[in-house]
Amino acid sequence: MALLKISEPGGRPAAPAHSLAVGIDLGTTNSLVACSCGGSVQILPDHAKHELLPSVVHYREGQAPLVGEQAKAAALVDPGNTIASVKRLLGMSAAEISSMDRVGRYRLDATRDAGAPAILTAAGPKDPVQVSADILGVLVERAEGCLRGKLEGAVVTVPAYFNDAQRQQTRDAARLAGLNVLRLLNEPTAAAVAYGLDSQDQGNVVVFDLGGGTFDVSLLSMQKGVFEVLATGGDTALGGDDFDHVLADWIASRAELDKPLDALSHGALMHYANEVKHSLSSDETVALSYADWSAQLDRQQFADLCKDLITRTLNTCRRVLRDAALTLDAIDNIVLVGGVTRMPIIREAVADFFGKPPLTNIDPDKVVAIGAGIQADVLIGNKSADNFLLLDVNPLSLGIETMGELTEKIIPRNTTVPVTRAQEFTTFKDSQTAMTLHVVQGERELVSDCRSLARFELRGIPPMVAGAAKVRVTFQVDADGLLSVMAEELSTSKTAQIQVKPSYGLNAGSIEQMLKASHEHAESDMELRTLKEAQLEAAQLIDAITTASEVDGKLLEEHDSQRIAAGIARLEEAVAEENSVRIHELTEQLNRISSDFAARRMDLHIGKALRGESIDDAEHPAESSESP
Ligand code: AMP
Repeated sequence: MALLKISEPGGRPAAPAHSLAVGIDLGTTNSLVACSCGGSVQILPDHAKHELLPSVVHYREGQAPLVGEQAKAAALVDPGNTIASVKRLLGMSAAEISSMDRVGRYRLDATRDAGAPAILTAAGPKDPVQVSADILGVLVERAEGCLRGKLEGAVVTVPAYFNDAQRQQTRDAARLAGLNVLRLLNEPTAAAVAYGLDSQDQGNVVVFDLGGGTFDVSLLSMQKGVFEVLATGGDTALGGDDFDHVLADWIASRAELDKPLDALSHGALMHYANEVKHSLSSDETVALSYADWSAQLDRQQFADLCKDLITRTLNTCRRVLRDAALTLDAIDNIVLVGGVTRMPIIREAVADFFGKPPLTNIDPDKVVAIGAGIQADVLIGNKSADNFLLLDVNPLSLGIETMGELTEKIIPRNTTVPVTRAQEFTTFKDSQTAMTLHVVQGERELVSDCRSLARFELRGIPPMVAGAAKVRVTFQVDADGLLSVMAEELSTSKTAQIQVKPSYGLNAGSIEQMLKASHEHAESDMELRTLKEAQLEAAQLIDAITTASEVDGKLLEEHDSQRIAAGIARLEEAVAEENSVRIHELTEQLNRISSDFAARRMDLHIGKALRGESIDDAEHPAESSESP
């Protein structure tokens, strides 16, 4: 993600000073809307002066849905018609929603096809896009009421790890709510913008976001007006709730509560632990009293109890620094996001780790919405002097399948977007007139270990010998992380392209798993890739020599023929034995043995070409579609 000046000659016409644009933090637990008015950014409240809108929707038959606090209250009596944390469902298939919904709270509409999930409610089937749109609709209404005018647009924030499908569904939800999305903005970028870090000349910023249930770390770099994400990392199963659990377990054991606790007692204990945790944010020591047990707990003891959790957050920071190839002393600022970062024990641990205090003076629950509000103001043109375009990174590598079912990465993970990268490929077979392009996402070497995004075909390649055609494959990721892939045969300018409507189902958890798997399998994957490439090279050489012998066998002496046949047999044996070093040696050996034959063929065909005959006259076209 980066701040890049939009270079329009003469600049964009300045919008009237009253253009209405807002920033929206569409959160898992709570959502907020912010607007830059009169030089400062404000969170817009509802009639009851509540700024946070719980991201909960309750559906009722024949009536408008309830959103926010009322929906949260309704969840207690009618959980089946109440949808919370819908952000976690964005981009998921029906099967994935059922598998994560262990309590079976959601009834899914079985009449829909597998890819399009819909939750059955009293108001009919609702998909995650619709539910998100209902939340956004309330924020739009709130903003238009506060600002007394129609909104011209909004900047909506999304987690840095959101994939294309999740980003697209966020956009779809906004459109459904009647919102013009000025752009989607990564949450950590918004947080850094809120602190005005984009106006510095240069510097590196770590955004440490610890919410109720998830933890995200992003490393942003600022260079002369360009602000980009160098790396991201996180833990989907780490948040404020875990600190409550640690405390509850400790109290249960100290107070010698009966185990296991029944559901009611467990709920009461968790509630108490949460209160104690909050108290320890303002008081150094808290007097505990639960059932007939009492004790004192101070911050240091609490920090010791939570040591493992804190270490996990710092280990993630360490990994992100390593991914970005930066050391601790290269970090200039640390921004805290999420309610848990109010805890002094977290602030101290972060300060100790980075060797400098984090920035804390903006409310960590509002910092993302505030940054989005500032950005919306810039994009709508109210801030005429500087128009910035914020860039993000793609969280997983994007590439295509090549022969041997191998992955060729075109845009590596953590590349700043928007980005366009192209690479040339060629045909594998003689007279190959079509090429299948299989777009994949992931870090592994084998296609089967990556995520398949799309397949399309480039047809009408003029028949040529294998390796002669040139096909340029261009990957373009736009500012919202949407991917377009184009393949062009360069001699005829024949093109085929696809806008990846990515399949459902990648979330922070699966990204983490994919990265973990790629680290674990790095060595064996490389070995496998080396072997596959060697086998492929051997197969191509054997294929070429066999075809050439069929066409120009007359150029071969008997003993040459025998040497070549023996060379082929040895190479085929090594291929079957899967020994890549031996395959390399024998491929080179076969190349040497057949080099005279190749030279004689070349002379013959150059002579023919000079006489106006075609090489293709002698060869047999093979109509087939292969990977590049
Ligand atoms: P969020 O999703 O960002 O609202 O984070 C919610 C989490 O932050 C919950 O686990 C809260 O208990 C925790 N939290 C909020 N405020 C405080 C505070 N002052 N001290 C400790 N934890 C807090």
